[in-house]
Amino acid sequence: MKNQISFFLFAFTLILLVTSCGEDSLEPDSSFGAELQTNEESSIDHSSHRNCGMADKMEKLMSNPDYQRIHLEKLRKLALMDNDPKHRSTCANPVLIPMAIHFQGISSPNASCLVSLAQNQVDILNKDFTGSNSDINKWSSNAASYFPGVANGEACVKFVLADKNHPSGYGLSEGSPAVTINKTNGDRINAFTKYLNVFVRSNLGFLGESPLGGAGNGDGVLVDAAAFGAGSGCGNVSPEAPYNLGRTLTHEIGHYLLLDHIWGGGCNQDDDVNDTPNQNSDYGGCPSLGASSCGSTDMHMNYMDYSNDACMYMFSAGQATRMENYLSSSLSNITNNASNVYGGGDDNGSDNTDDNDDDTTDNDDNEPIETCDKPSSTNVTIVNNRKVKVSWEASFEAIRYQLIYRKVGANRWTRRSGTSTSRTLGSLTAGADYEYRVRTRCSSGWTGYTAKQIFNTVEDDTSSDNDDANCNTIKFELVLDQYGSETSWELVDENNSRIATGGPYKDGQAGRKITKEFCLPDGCYTMYVDDAYGDGICCDYGDGYFKLMTSNGSVIAESDGYFGNYDYLDVCLDGNSGSLRNRKTDPKSKKLARKKVLASN
Ligand SMILES: [Zn+2]
Repeated sequence: MKNQISFFLFAFTLILLVTSCGEDSLEPDSSFGAELQTNEESSIDHSSHRNCGMADKMEKLMSNPDYQRIHLEKLRKLALMDNDPKHRSTCANPVLIPMAIHFQGISSPNASCLVSLAQNQVDILNKDFTGSNSDINKWSSNAASYFPGVANGEACVKFVLADKNHPSGYGLSEGSPAVTINKTNGDRINAFTKYLNVFVRSNLGFLGESPLGGAGNGDGVLVDAAAFGAGSGCGNVSPEAPYNLGRTLTHEIGHYLLLDHIWGGGCNQDDDVNDTPNQNSDYGGCPSLGASSCGSTDMHMNYMDYSNDACMYMFSAGQATRMENYLSSSLSNITNNASNVYGGGDDNGSDNTDDNDDDTTDNDDNEPIETCDKPSSTNVTIVNNRKVKVSWEASFEAIRYQLIYRKVGANRWTRRSGTSTSRTLGSLTAGADYEYRVRTRCSSGWTGYTAKQIFNTVEDDTSSDNDDANCNTIKFELVLDQYGSETSWELVDENNSRIATGGPYKDGQAGRKITKEFCLPDGCYTMYVDDAYGDGICCDYGDGYFKLMTSNGSVIAESDGYFGNYDYLDVCLDGNSGSLRNRKTDPKSKKLARKKVLASN
């Protein structure tokens, strides 16, 4: 396994060193180029492609052995995390990312206009990163059908302009946003360490640039003054079509949070995100849905492609997970700084989700009578002492719904999404108080959540007869090899919480059969068997194996015991349909999930 990781990192390094960021260049003899020379205010290339300086920047950075070592260490940390978007809990308290925006070389600047433009750009980031952008419906109602199984991603983040305890000497007063004008140069400012910095200036030669994985050490991203924010702009800081919706910064901050370009390094070089299809190269302009390469449909509407601003509108769930994981593993210096430099919200670290999730409802006035709104008339039906059904009334023109719930007092919400107006919640604790909230996805984005409501599950009846009615019986059978002391097992639920463990056992018992029976609520489970020596339980020192069976002994899933450090079996139980099915998940994501389980338990 170690060798595999080293190889992965080595390959990744090579990718960084050999890829270039788009093939287009600023052709001096193009008609646009000639036109640009006569127009002072226009500084961007209007040819069919956007361009970005990330790969060139990384090539330079990675040539420094110290940088390379630190960068690879960050990737190693990330690889140990759970990168499966299905394991994420819901976003109740977004991680605050304090920003500072630095306009550079602006002639006759209009300060208040630039501050508004900076805030406008931050608002765009918040919509794009949380999937509440007004054009997300292009994905949900159309493009998504080209990518079965892929969900758009909502990163649990909130970008804010720092507004207190500013460094001195930059013309910033307490309570005003961290927007500096003509006070900085270049793409680094030490006084703003622990901020996400954005440097805006004209004639960059590309639309934007960022390191692949920022450091929060005063570094940041560069954006051309003709591709910053949306609207009519401020003098020579004016967004120009087709890069006038503020998405150059969405793309560059994607890089800062470790997202590679969607095409990676071509068909054979992945972008290290599981749910984005392989893609041969970049797209520009507004490509047609269904365009394909590498034998799969291309996701050119992804923010990490080179499409026009109007034709990119989503991150995938895998990308959102990667960004969140990078933030927590490598950018806590920035996120921890939020409470020092941002006082504009009373939502820092609080448990109140009301403030955080209602960002899309800016215009409460003039609402039409019938509008897409949060769900109404929520209702809870007790199914049994570990299961309830929550239902609500359909919202007008709702695209889908999201329900979050948790045991009262718990930190993390569990999230369930779908188009149905009801949701059955299983695996609950008997005799406990739970709270839940629901929201609606409208074409304009998510509504706020409904107010918290509470339900109580029924006390456990200790009679085993009753238990049997509420759970699904499965049997686990493990046959040891000669070295039982190397063998242990662990059953976890879909949140990677431990349900049962066993072993290690005594040596010299090859062929001994261990059997266990579990009665489990509906849900998906994974049984891991570990071999501490890394040589499995078959076949050099005995013919060990393990399997999961139904109560009457039919095999649901089986491992032949021929593995290294561990093998696993997945099973999903649904008492209503009586189904017990084998669900073999992607081994790559499983391997990462496994490390997370071992690290957290
Ligand atoms: Zn880029």
